[in-house]
Amino acid sequence: MPAQTTTAEVVDLDQRRAVLAAVEEQPAARRVLTEGEFDAAYRAARAELGLHARRLGTYTIEAALTSALATVGILPPPPDPEPDQCAAQFADLAGEWHQCAEDADHDQAEGHSDGEWSWPHGETYAVPEPEGPAEAQQ
Ligand SMILES: [Zn+2]
Repeated sequence: MPAQTTTAEVVDLDQRRAVLAAVEEQPAARRVLTEGEFDAAYRAARAELGLHARRLGTYTIEAALTSALATVGILPPPPDPEPDQCAAQFADLAGEWHQCAEDADHDQAEGHSDGEWSWPHGETYAVPEPEGPAEAQQ
């Protein structure tokens, strides 16, 4: 038996799909916020939540903020890359950053991959690996 959805949920999903489609059609790379910009957005969200902020916690507020911003093509700053591997990173549509799992000295002209996603050098976009994560490790 399929789950029942309300009319409001259908409208929300349609609106979200329309926003995502519009974002994907934009030719320019997604904007990546600086640490200072993301901190300012976090403080504004936390202030708006008032007494609810303490109950939600930093992780939940940051996750909600990241998802909301990524939906309209704005990314949080990337984390410091893990050492001893390629430092190339990209963010998925939810704004979560992924780091290339190849060796630091691999041929960057061949693009980057973390086994699940691959992306061309210099891009912040990525596409799923066609052969799947298990075979990408070989
Ligand atoms: Zn790489």
